[in-house]
Amino acid sequence: MKNFLVGAHMSVAGGIHLAIERAINYGFNCLQIFTHSPRLWNAKKISQKEITLFNEFKSEIRCVVVHAPYLPNLASPDKTILDKSINTVYNDLIVADEINADFYVIHPGSHKKSGVDNGIQTLTNSLINIFRNYPPNLTFLLETMPGAGATIGGSLNELARVINNVHSKLPNVKIGICVDTAHVFAAGIDIRNETAVDDFISDISKTVGRTAVKIVHSNDSFEPLASKKDRHNHIGKGEIGIKGFENMMKKSLFRKLPWILETPKSNENSDIENKTALMNIYNNLINS
Ligand SMILES: [Zn+2]
Ligand SMILES: [Zn+2]
Repeated sequence: MKNFLVGAHMSVAGGIHLAIERAINYGFNCLQIFTHSPRLWNAKKISQKEITLFNEFKSEIRCVVVHAPYLPNLASPDKTILDKSINTVYNDLIVADEINADFYVIHPGSHKKSGVDNGIQTLTNSLINIFRNYPPNLTFLLETMPGAGATIGGSLNELARVINNVHSKLPNVKIGICVDTAHVFAAGIDIRNETAVDDFISDISKTVGRTAVKIVHSNDSFEPLASKKDRHNHIGKGEIGIKGFENMMKKSLFRKLPWILETPKSNENSDIENKTALMNIYNNLINS
């Protein structure tokens, strides 16, 4: 068990240090947080005291992930939104480094109606702009998306184009991807079948490369395969089911990564139940 990296997205209500304390109390060795409310542009700044307290707990945790707020769109064709987005992510990255986060995860954004090529170009330019002004210590991750409408990241190929573009200008920037099980399933990858997982891995090898995959967002899905809809369900209780998670975890590429739950908090036991579901799969695999 101690080799299994597992965490959940934790609320920062009352301060970010309480999020890490809650994660430890639940028996997680990883956690993910927003540094502030994900639906506000101008959120209250984290105090130095919270940062110090957070870092005091850090030795008990093996992986800290900061999820970007939802409002920034680094691929926006609207200059005002774009500037605001760049600014927000830039400031958030500084905070994420202050709490010694390992990873920063962001949704690649939406090109609105400007077309995927323009969106990828805008996103690339935004990232280069941010990294030139603030090269973070942490590793920056683009998340796989269900691929609805004008969002970027519904395919590995789109993520690979962004990463390659950034690396062509800034070869030393640490940038990779986060695989969200509910999102890839909604994008049409039927992880309930092991061959589909094998195909997914060979697609990873041909696009972003295996080493680019840094974390798994482990969520079951309320929505059916290829629905392009994003609704998370409890592990084993949704359309993916236990078998899908088993298929993913069978592969060393995924098994050794941090598994971060973003499952519903239906009651106070939800996180523990979902953690147990993942740990049972892991333990069965390594003991078989
Ligand atoms: Zn996300
Ligand atoms: Zn999602």
